[in-house]
Amino acid sequence: MNKHATYQQLRSHLAYLKLTAAAEQLPAALEQAEKTKPGYTQFLHALLDVEVTATRERRLASRLRLAGFPSTKPLEEFDFTAQPSIDRRLVEELATLRFIEEKANLLAIGPPGVGKTMLAIALGLKAVHAGYRVYYTTAADLVARTSRAALEGRWQTTMRFWNGPQLLVIDELGYLPMPGEAAAHLFQVISRRYEHGSIILTTNRGIASWGEIFDDSTVAAAILDRLLHHATVLQIDGDSYRMRGHRARLATLRAGLDHPAEGGEFSRSHLGNSHDR
Ligand code: ADP
Ligand code: MG
Repeated sequence: MNKHATYQQLRSHLAYLKLTAAAEQLPAALEQAEKTKPGYTQFLHALLDVEVTATRERRLASRLRLAGFPSTKPLEEFDFTAQPSIDRRLVEELATLRFIEEKANLLAIGPPGVGKTMLAIALGLKAVHAGYRVYYTTAADLVARTSRAALEGRWQTTMRFWNGPQLLVIDELGYLPMPGEAAAHLFQVISRRYEHGSIILTTNRGIASWGEIFDDSTVAAAILDRLLHHATVLQIDGDSYRMRGHRARLATLRAGLDHPAEGGEFSRSHLGNSHDR
């Protein structure tokens, strides 16, 4: 076979094997090789490296898309000084993703705006980058979809779906009440994942008041039992990060009134800071 025919066949081999990136790179790689005369191993390595990099990037992009994260803020952007109640070392330990290997869970509890969703997604992003399959949903969405699936005779498929990802993020449990059937569906998802795959669950309700989210305290107890058996609990008690701007503006306003430039008469008495009296 002459050189040209071999080249053509090589290209079609690469196409047949769907090594698209390597096929595209081939002419340039050969031209380069004419000049630099690399060894056989070196040449093959360089060519396949292009393919591996392209495949890795494609898979990452696909895992990211499938995860359905509503934001992409990384953990590095989380300001720990703004939230002193968070144990930073605990979060850093979680960021090693050992908990996913151990099929353990994370329960993040705290009032609105303290960064529960951001942390859950940031850890989810780390997991996606490390090669894990991750899926983000809210508790309300999870039960709505599961109930619909049950009605439409797709129960097994849906259960397989919720069991698929190695990390399932269930955000915002507790904002909406969960009547009996919804609670039972959530229980099914959580108990099927028990010791199979990790869950990050965020909630604005302390464990003690989970009875109020669910009509049935037995279901609440059963869910907690599965969830907490292998779990880290991250309790965040701080001010809302969303409200910071407002608080800062309020503080500026107060400071301005406390020390009026013209030395106004009304400042203290009208603001009435209790410690001034
Ligand atoms: P929660 O889920 O607890 O209600 P979020 O995670 O949605 O709170 O946080 C509200 C907003 O504030 C988001 O835009 C989030 O990125 C941001 N945020 C919260 N806490 C922090 C923090 N410590 N550092 C940086 N951004 C934060
Ligand atoms: Mg949230």
